[in-house]
Amino acid sequence: MFQIPRGTRDFTSEEMQKRRYVENSMRSTFQTFGYREIQTPIFENLELFTAKSGEGIIDEIYSFNDKGGRNLALRPELTAPTIRMYVEKLQMEPKPLKLFYFGNCFRYDRPQKGRYREFTQAGCEIIGVDSPEAYAELIAMGYKVLENSGLKKIELNIGNLSVLSAMFDVIKLPKDKRKYMVPLIDKSQFEDVLLALQDFGIKPKDASEFLEILETTDLKKIKEYVKADKTAKDELSKLENIIDLLKTSFDIKNPKLKMSIVRGLDYYTGVVFEIEAPELGAEKQLCGGGAYDLIGLFGGRNTPTAGFAIGFDRTILALETEKYKFPSLDLDAYVIPYDEKMLDKSLEITKNLRKKGKTVDLDLMRRGIGKSLKYARSINAKNAIIVAPKELENDSVTIKDMITGKQEIVKIKNIFQKFK
Ligand code: AMP
Repeated sequence: MFQIPRGTRDFTSEEMQKRRYVENSMRSTFQTFGYREIQTPIFENLELFTAKSGEGIIDEIYSFNDKGGRNLALRPELTAPTIRMYVEKLQMEPKPLKLFYFGNCFRYDRPQKGRYREFTQAGCEIIGVDSPEAYAELIAMGYKVLENSGLKKIELNIGNLSVLSAMFDVIKLPKDKRKYMVPLIDKSQFEDVLLALQDFGIKPKDASEFLEILETTDLKKIKEYVKADKTAKDELSKLENIIDLLKTSFDIKNPKLKMSIVRGLDYYTGVVFEIEAPELGAEKQLCGGGAYDLIGLFGGRNTPTAGFAIGFDRTILALETEKYKFPSLDLDAYVIPYDEKMLDKSLEITKNLRKKGKTVDLDLMRRGIGKSLKYARSINAKNAIIVAPKELENDSVTIKDMITGKQEIVKIKNIFQKFK
C-alpha cells in the first residue's frame, strides 16, 4: 500500500477543527493590530532563497527543475516571498505597510516531534518604519498572537545583532569565523562557545568575559562592554526603550534581555526576538523574528523591515501540552425521520435550520430511530430531532437533548428559537 511521505502529516477532522480554530484566533489578532493578509505561491524561483541564504540552503530545501527547465523550490519560509512580492508590486504603497500570512512551508529537515518536512508558518512583516514603538508593537503582537490562541506558558527573549557584532569586535574575532559561532550560541552551548573562541585564538580571559556578557540580563553591563561602539550603544538605548514600552504600553509582563539570540547574521540587522514554550523541550521555539535587510538585496529601494514567523504546528503542540480545552465540533442537531413518509418533512426542517446557520445532519440511510440515535451520539450531535406522524399532526416534533437525555415536544416553527 501507499504511505504518507516522510515528515508530512494527514490531519483528521478533529485536528483540522483545532487548527482552524487557532488559525482564526491568530488571524483576528493580526487584524486587531492593523495587519492585512497576503498570499504568495507555494513554489518560487530557487534563486530567491539562495540569494537570501546562500547556496548552502539547497541541501535543506525541496528544489526541482520544471518541464521548462526552470529552477524552482518549494518555499522553506515566507519572508523572502513576501519581500519579493513587495519589491515587485507594493513599493509604492503608503508606509508603514503591515502584512501577515499563513502558509505551508517545506524543509528537508530530519523529522521529529515539532519538526516536519511540511509545516505551517503564521507570520508578518512591517515595512517602512523603525521607531522603538514600531518594534515594541511588532514584538507585542507576536506575544499576543500566541497568548490569544490560549497559551499560558510562553517566554519572550529579546536581543540585538548589532550589539552581538560589537561584542565580537571587542574580542577581535575575525568576521569569517563568526558564522561558526552562530549555531553554538543559538543553542546556548556556552561551553562549546568558550572552546571554539579559544580555538580561534581568543585569550581565555577575553573569551570568558564575552561569555558573561552573552549570558547576562543586565543592560548596564552590556553597555559598558561595547561602549566604544556608537551604533551598538544607540541600539542598546533603543532596546531599553522597546523593553520599557513592552512593559508599560503593551502589557507584556516579562520580556527578557538575551544577547545570545543570533538567528541569521547575514540579513538580520538589529533587534531580534524569540518566543518559547519551555514545556516543549528540544523544539520549544514557537516564534522568531526581528529587523532585517532584504529589500536592497532583492533589487528594491531600501527601507527598514522587520517581521516574525510563528511555528503554527508547534503552537498546537504547546496548546495540547498545556491541556488547552479546544471547543468541540458538536452538531446542533441530527434529524431522524420515523419512516420513509417522514423524509420530506425531515429534509425541510434540516434545510430551514441550515439556512439559519445551524449545523445539522440527517439520517440518509433510512435506518430507524434506535440506530440513528446511536449514530447521532457517535458524531456528537447535541440534539436529535425525531420527525414522527403523531407529533406531526400537531405540526410538532420531538427534540431529544443528547446530553441530558430529556425529551420535549416542540412546534416546528419554534425549533430554531430552541437552538438560539
Ligand atoms: P525560522 O523561519 O527557521 O525562524 O522558523 C520560524 C518558526 O517556524 C520556528 O520558531 C518554528 O516554530 C517553526 N519551524 C521551523 N522549522 C520547522 C519545522 N521543520 N517543522 C515545524 N516547525 C518549524
